[in-house]
Amino acid sequence: MDGYDVIVIGGGYAGLSAGALLASKGHRVLLLERSRHLGGRAAYQERDGFLVEYGLHDNRFASEGAAAAVFRRLGRELKFIEPGEPELYRNGSFLPLPNNVGKIFRSPLLSTRAKLSAAYYLLRLVLGRPERKYQISLEELTSKCRSPETLELMRVLSGIGIIAPDLRHASAGEMAAFLRKALRAKVKVGYPEGGTRQIIEGLREELEKNGQILTSSQVTRLFLRKGKVTQVKTDTATYTARAVISAIPVQEVPDLFGGKDLPIKFVKKARELVPTAGIALDLGLREKVSEKKGLIVTPDPVTMGQFTSNIDLSTAPEGKQLLSWFYPLPLPWMRNQDKVKREEERLREMLGEMFPGIWEAVEWERVMRLSMVDGFLPRPGQTREDRPGFTLPGLDNFFLCGDTTCAEGTGGDTAFNSALEVSELADAYLKEAKGKEGEEEG
Ligand SMILES: Cc1cc2nc3c(=O)[nH]c(=O)nc-3n(C[C@H](O)[C@H](O)[C@H](O)COP(=O)(O)OP(=O)(O)OC[C@H]3O[C@@H](n4cnc5c(N)ncnc54)[C@H](O)[C@@H]3O)c2cc1C
Repeated sequence: MDGYDVIVIGGGYAGLSAGALLASKGHRVLLLERSRHLGGRAAYQERDGFLVEYGLHDNRFASEGAAAAVFRRLGRELKFIEPGEPELYRNGSFLPLPNNVGKIFRSPLLSTRAKLSAAYYLLRLVLGRPERKYQISLEELTSKCRSPETLELMRVLSGIGIIAPDLRHASAGEMAAFLRKALRAKVKVGYPEGGTRQIIEGLREELEKNGQILTSSQVTRLFLRKGKVTQVKTDTATYTARAVISAIPVQEVPDLFGGKDLPIKFVKKARELVPTAGIALDLGLREKVSEKKGLIVTPDPVTMGQFTSNIDLSTAPEGKQLLSWFYPLPLPWMRNQDKVKREEERLREMLGEMFPGIWEAVEWERVMRLSMVDGFLPRPGQTREDRPGFTLPGLDNFFLCGDTTCAEGTGGDTAFNSALEVSELADAYLKEAKGKEGEEEG
C-alpha cells in the first residue's frame, strides 16, 4: 500500500467532490488528473483580467442544489448570486420567459389556447411519479397538442432545464423530475460567487486536508486481481490503494481495463451512452453592450446565454463585459464541420441582432465545438433507470462517479449527486476493509 485508502481518477466536479468527502471522513485520498489543471468540464482560466469558465455555468437550485449539498456535508457554505429573471428573445423583443404556470398565464407571448394547453402539459408532467414517464418522450407526451406556441415553449423549457430541446430526445420522466424539484425550490438558479473557481478551489482545499492531488497524471491502465483493482498505472508511476473511484466519463472506462475484465452489458451501455453536445461561445467585450442580468433564451433554435459579468462583477475588468452563450446541438451534427460552421454563423447573427454593436465591442472570443457538454442526453433509454450504476458486479473495490452515472439531475447536478452517493458506498467499503485488516493483524 502507498499509504492511500482510495485513488480517485479525474479531477472534475465529481472526482474532487468524492475525494473531498472521503478525505473528510478520515480516508487518505490520492486524486490523479490527466490535465494540468482541475475542474474538467467546469474548469476556469484567467484571461486578460476576465475569469473565463468552460462556457456558461450556473447551478440549478443554488443553495438547495447538489453542489451546495456537497459543501454542506463538508461543513462549508457555497455562496451564490441570484441572477435576474430569465427572458425570451422573440421577434425582436425581450419578454419574461414563461417558465411557470403563473408566468404562463401572464405572458403576452401565448394565446389563451396556448396558455391553457401549456399549463395542462406542465401539470401532467409534475403530477404522478417521474419514473412512470421515463421511457416516454416529450414528443409522445405532447402528441395531441395542436398549439405550435405550446410546443415551442416545451422545447425551450426542456432545452434550459435538462439540455434536451429536441422533444423526441427528451424523456418526459427526466423533465418531470426536474420540474418537480424546480417547483419546490425557493431559488431556481444561482451563479456561484466568483464562478466555478469557488467550487473547485473549495473542494481542492478540503481534499488536500487528508490527501494529495497530482495533475498531469493520466491513468492509462487498471489491473485486476481476484475481483479487485490492485494497481492504477499512469505513464510514469503505479499506485495502489484499498479502493478506486473512476470519476471520468463512463464512455472512457472500458479503455482503462484494456477492453476486458468488465461485464459486457456495462461495456456496451458505457460505450453507447450519448452525451449532450453543442457550441459554447465566450466573448470578452471591451465595453458594456447590455445591462441584462438573467438568462436569455432564443426559441428557434433554442440557445441560451448570459452576461456573466452583470451577475458577478468579478468576472470581467471594470467597464468590460463577459458574455457566455450555449447552443445545444445533436452529437452527430458535431461531426459535420460544415453543419457546425453554419450553426455557429446563425448564432453570431442572432447575437448581432439581439445586441447591436456587439461584434464591434469584441476584445477576444473563444468558440468551443463540444462533443460532450453534459454526460448524457436525457432521452428515453438514457434515464436514471438506464444509465450505469455506481458499482460493477464482481468488482468489490471499484466505484463509478460522475455526470454519466445514474445519479439524479442533469450535468453538474448529476456529478455532485453521484459523489454524494459514491462517497457513502466507498466509505462503507473502506471501513469494512480496514476492519478486516485489523482483525487479521490482531
Ligand atoms: C459548455 C458547458 C456548459 C455547461 N453548463 C452547465 C451548467 O450551467 N450547469 C451544470 O450543472 N452543468 C453544466 N455543464 C456540465 C458540467 O460542466 C458537467 O456535468 C460536469 O463538469 C461534469 O463533471 P465530472 O466530474 O462528472 O466530469 P469531468 O468534468 O469531465 O471530469 C473528468 C475529469 O477526469 C479527467 N480525466 C479523464 N480521463 C482521465 C484519465 N485517464 N486519467 C486521469 N484523469 C482523467 C479529465 O481531464 C477531467 O478533468 C456544462 C458543461 C459544458 C461543457
